[in-house]
Amino acid sequence: MSNELIVKKKEIKATEKIVENIKSILEFYGALGFEMLPIKCLSLVKTNDQSDKLFDKGSLLKYLRKEIGDCNRCRLSKGRTNIVFGEGNPDARLMFIGEAPGREEDLQGRPFVGDAGRLLTRLIEKMGYKRKDVYIANIVKCRPPMNRDPEKDEIEICKVFVEKQIEIIKPVVIISLGRISAQTLIGNDRLKMTSIRGNFFDYKGIHLMPTFHPAYLLRNPKDKWLTWSDAQKVLERLKGIKG
Ligand code: SF4
Repeated sequence: MSNELIVKKKEIKATEKIVENIKSILEFYGALGFEMLPIKCLSLVKTNDQSDKLFDKGSLLKYLRKEIGDCNRCRLSKGRTNIVFGEGNPDARLMFIGEAPGREEDLQGRPFVGDAGRLLTRLIEKMGYKRKDVYIANIVKCRPPMNRDPEKDEIEICKVFVEKQIEIIKPVVIISLGRISAQTLIGNDRLKMTSIRGNFFDYKGIHLMPTFHPAYLLRNPKDKWLTWSDAQKVLERLKGIKG
């Protein structure tokens, strides 16, 4: 192959890379509801190997957090102390999604850190993981007043962020914690926890296992074994899917 041809091929590859990067930037901001592209992000378009680093999952999650900013897209912004974005391993195979931050989470800006959080941590460890191995988030990112359930319009506005987190992380399995998380991810607000928990659903090609919220289990400890049986099904599913 002539030198000229090799150079041409390299140029075509570099151009393809730029187009790919621009496409993912447009998709990323489009999914967040932006109609115009923030001009600064064009500097992210690089042709060298650095571009892969800029688009790793951790960086994308950081961009997403930045785009949420000091959000006041819904009324939950009024009573919150901190936005609780989520935390954990951006490359996690397993993701836990609850409904909304509580008092302790709101104060610390971290998901599942109160009594219910300690129970969730015990479940994660019983499954053979550490908190840092999995990713933990909520459907809405701000605490509803008096820990009430998030309302439909609040969920509708905020859920784009958790959808984006899932899209970036691409876990193998999601465990949804509680009714609201399951109903939101399955897209049916008539579903009852008792009839759906313990069964796998499909969320955009990802295995979704609804189980009880740890706060419910603190009030109803006799049902803990049901959540453990759901977790065992998840472990079996994870074992069966490599990569
Ligand atoms: S709950 Fe979500 S949409 Fe509402 S203010 Fe908080 S981050 Fe914004």
